[in-house]
Amino acid sequence: MQFSEASSYLERLEKTASRNQITEILSDLYKKCSKEEIDKITYLVLGQLAPNYKGIVLNIAEKMMFRVFSKAYKMEIGEVRKLFKVKGDLGEVALSLAKSKKDLSVVEVYERLMAISEAGGAGSQERKVVLMAELLSSLNPLSAKYVSRIPVGRLRLGFSDMTILDSLSFMLTKDKSKRKEIENAFNVSCDIGRIASLIKAKGMNGIKDITPQAGIPIRPSLCERLPSAEKILEKVGKTVYVEPKYDGFRSQIHIYEEEGKKKVAIFSRNLESTTAMFPDLVEVIEKIKVKSAIFDGEAIGYDPKNDKFLPFQETIQRKRKHGIEKAAVDFPLRLFLFDVLFLNGKSLLEVPFSERRSFLEKVDLGGTKTIEIARQVKTDNADTIRDLIKKYLSEGLEGAVIKKIDAPYKAGGRGYHWVKYKKTTVKGVADTIDCLVLGVNKGKGKRTGFGVGAFLVGIKDKDTFKSVSKIGTGLSDEQWRELDRRTRALEVKVKPTSYEVDKNLTPDVWVKPSLVVEILADEITRSPIHKAGLALRFPRLIKFRDEKGPSEVTTLEELQKLYQMQKV
Ligand code: ATP
Repeated sequence: MQFSEASSYLERLEKTASRNQITEILSDLYKKCSKEEIDKITYLVLGQLAPNYKGIVLNIAEKMMFRVFSKAYKMEIGEVRKLFKVKGDLGEVALSLAKSKKDLSVVEVYERLMAISEAGGAGSQERKVVLMAELLSSLNPLSAKYVSRIPVGRLRLGFSDMTILDSLSFMLTKDKSKRKEIENAFNVSCDIGRIASLIKAKGMNGIKDITPQAGIPIRPSLCERLPSAEKILEKVGKTVYVEPKYDGFRSQIHIYEEEGKKKVAIFSRNLESTTAMFPDLVEVIEKIKVKSAIFDGEAIGYDPKNDKFLPFQETIQRKRKHGIEKAAVDFPLRLFLFDVLFLNGKSLLEVPFSERRSFLEKVDLGGTKTIEIARQVKTDNADTIRDLIKKYLSEGLEGAVIKKIDAPYKAGGRGYHWVKYKKTTVKGVADTIDCLVLGVNKGKGKRTGFGVGAFLVGIKDKDTFKSVSKIGTGLSDEQWRELDRRTRALEVKVKPTSYEVDKNLTPDVWVKPSLVVEILADEITRSPIHKAGLALRFPRLIKFRDEKGPSEVTTLEELQKLYQMQKV
């Protein structure tokens, strides 16, 4: 397929707001392309070159694109800048400047973009500019428009992985009937391009027996909430496992061989690679005596002087790059493994949890103190559950996770096979709520200095974000300043199309979908003004959830469940 043909689909996608129509257009595109093209097309329509966890990016900043345009279209850089001010979008700038009628194949465009992403070392910035300019000058205006948007990672097509899964089903059956099965395969092997290729090559047979592959993340299992120990025993099982809930970083550990070498990869809750962030963990993980494995676990900072776990905020300090080496000495990480999903070439996803746990206990962890297996108590008694929760909280842990004894590993799902019980479950709303920051109001009075005076947050309902609270209190001075700093970089002039907000709540500035905050509320109430239909009473900001993206904010369905739970 030529890129100009792909671009005409992209143009149709950009002009369509209806999700059903988007699904059909994408499925037409999928039908037309070949099995060698479909993975590349899938990444490109998502504004990427590869799944996020591979961390493959072009590394061309918006400002660098001005130099690219200047070179490609032989124009003064000042003129390009002026044009960008008027158009406000790199794609529109390219569309108005490109004049060529030339065309390249989709594969060629993809390979050239990949080559740009790989340029590294001294002088690589300049080389990237030259290569990108050459690429743009070989493309017609419409193709140049979409290729120019890839450096900033957004094609403005307004859909997510989930729409891609629908479209793959549409490609096969003209309806969404295969979506669930396709999503199950994606949960097990989270490379959407790979799933598309397998389906294009062999239909549903291509993914029928899909198994995890070390090196490709599995979508993590998540917890439900329940209001009491009694309810837990009723719903999870007469006898359950109780484990501490460690408040650190979700870490999916992959060990595998590549070209005769042992490799380790660590993935976060939202499937980004965190391998480079934890060199001290990688070192000990390499000593685990397995040929290949995928473990699920949590990494948490530990203060050896006081024999205490660190609160999440302090653990996260390690993330700030410069501190990594020193933090590794002062506050070493502990890795608690609580599940094993794949071992020495075999998938364990379908194996009951009790058996997976036995496999986990038999693994030779290499005699290190850094890695431990999560503590676990088997009980059928509500008082024991309550006592354990109290004990864990007093140790500085976040609460407990109560697990169903014989459940398979539920990749990519929340369910009653795992139930979390935190301090907040005891009183008021059973859990904190992860919200997306939709907009901010500038500070008045005392808060002028902080920049932000209030902010609007929302929860997720399918592909939209519905407002649920306007927060004007409950933040420390430091948190207000941080909110200002973070939102300034994300301000946009027009309301993002995925936001649903009542006119009367329009903030001073909109914030593009990116920043996720964890909010604790005293109560969830019905609301005529918030589009979620529910609102949060006395909201407080607990933390900025850097490890979560917009697709992981609390859903309307979850919020409704939390609302119902208050009445129990
Ligand atoms: P939260 O906001 O409570 O951290 P979440 O939305 O990130 O929740 P949940 O499914 O609600 O995810 O809670 C599960 C999280 O708890 C896991 O992502 C994992 O990081 C953490 N966790 C800590 N200890 C355990 C454990 N023993 N078993 C399972 N998960 C655990």
